Amino acid sequence: MNLAIVQLTRQDQLILRAVQESFESMGIDVDIVLQPIGPHIGSLDWERVQFNAETMFRWFRTQCSEILAGGYDSTAGIAEVDAYLGGYEYILSMASRGVSLNFTARLDNRDVSLYVKRVKKLVLNSWGRSQGITHEGGGKCLFSEIRTVNDLDGLPEEPCPRCRSGLQISTTKVSL
Ligand SMILES: [Zn+2]
Repeated sequence: MNLAIVQLTRQDQLILRAVQESFESMGIDVDIVLQPIGPHIGSLDWERVQFNAETMFRWFRTQCSEILAGGYDSTAGIAEVDAYLGGYEYILSMASRGVSLNFTARLDNRDVSLYVKRVKKLVLNSWGRSQGITHEGGGKCLFSEIRTVNDLDGLPEEPCPRCRSGLQISTTKVSL
């Protein structure tokens, strides 16, 4: 499996490397697209001062079509912006059919090590959904559904056996 990470806003190298290492610990090859491609200003709701996640995701999917055609199984976008969906105050990620998009502005970058860990968990979690995985059954796993930053912090580093085999991940513990 291979994945292209796409920056919508320029990310610190430290963060990109950390995310890359997490995926590599699961046996997934990662390439990072160096030039940021966004964010998509057309998705900005000027009254809310927040991006419309659905509009931005549609745009991002179009942007990714060339990357996916170029031989990648999946793409994961990282945007340090705040986004909303429907009636929710904010949303952290969107994912479907090989494409995931992560909104990191709510993750609070004042504590760098906590921030890096949150970004890694978020990107991995939404990538799982982009591969069609939804965690089922009791207990929590790295691929459990999340909505808030608290939910994200509560995610364990271990994927459950079911998700692991669904995603063909070799490791029992992901490097976070
Ligand atoms: Zn699971």
